[in-house]
Amino acid sequence: MTKILVTGGAGYIGAHACKVLAREGYTPVTFDNLSTGWEQAVKFGPFEKGDLLDRARVDEVFAKHKPEAVMHFAALSQVGESMQVPGWYWRSNVGGAANLCEAAVEAGCGKFIFSSTCATYGDQDGVVLDEHSKQMPINAYGASKRAIEDILENFEAACGLKHVIFRYFNVAGGDEEAEVGECHRPETHLIPLVLDAIDGRRPKLTIFGTDYDTPDGTCIRDYVHVMDLVEAHVLGLKWLESGKDSRDFNLGTGSGFSVREVMDAAGVVTNRTVPYEEGPRRAGDATRLVSGSSRAMDELGWKPHRSNMPQMIEDAWRWHQSEGYGV
Ligand code: UDP
Repeated sequence: MTKILVTGGAGYIGAHACKVLAREGYTPVTFDNLSTGWEQAVKFGPFEKGDLLDRARVDEVFAKHKPEAVMHFAALSQVGESMQVPGWYWRSNVGGAANLCEAAVEAGCGKFIFSSTCATYGDQDGVVLDEHSKQMPINAYGASKRAIEDILENFEAACGLKHVIFRYFNVAGGDEEAEVGECHRPETHLIPLVLDAIDGRRPKLTIFGTDYDTPDGTCIRDYVHVMDLVEAHVLGLKWLESGKDSRDFNLGTGSGFSVREVMDAAGVVTNRTVPYEEGPRRAGDATRLVSGSSRAMDELGWKPHRSNMPQMIEDAWRWHQSEGYGV
């Protein structure tokens, strides 16, 4: 069976990608250093523990598995942290990606699917972003992902490595069967924190800022269901397999939800109340981040089926109530 090297396959999005790849008849080979991922999440193919900064280890894995393509999810991904320790983000994200591209080319693997971010666009309030929007990252995380997009352009020009880039904002929900799910320790993301407050794992949710220029004063974000997202990545793989050119695609719903709207939706789905308090703004938060996805729909035939708020919360709640990874 065709093997795909999935970096970050033990993490939230990567583990869901492995599940969908296996369902589509591929063998996902997870490469992960377990800095934020879980070995328990590697259920759909072989696991190779390693760090992208360890070039010899990356070469060893390419030589052993001979993957047809790379799906690159592994990254440090906390905006706030990236502003405190930017060196980690540049070294790990950018250095790791450069190693991975070199190793892929030297091993004769010519297809690269990259999990980028709409954070590369920076803070462009009031704009529904698309692939033509100017990229002006405002934090080290977004800047590191933007740099990797440049690396991919350079490797295509120099070595013919073909790529598909996906950019997105907030990812939510989980596998319908709850075999894998969202598990960050510590957790920083809104939906799992809302569910923690609902079931008492945390005393309450703190809303980060209620004085934004939005209808209810809280920040607005574009949430995409993780399964829809990874299905787009598989379409990106098929795009390259069919010999098409490198391309970038934004994945969003084009409409956003405020923090209060997410809390309200979670209250309805779970039939519970969300204990909360109103707190100050969190540094680095943009007011409203929304992206369209007409290119992905028109050219890839991407059809997001589950990216509606009640469905995302229902799937996240199912996982939340399961044993998860037992951590
Ligand atoms: N948020 C919040 N309280 C929390 C965590 C998040 O109010 O405890 C808000 C955050 O300010 C942002 C939105 O929820 O407006 C989504 O934040 P998250 O960290 O999930 O994703 P981000 O948009 O930062 O990638």
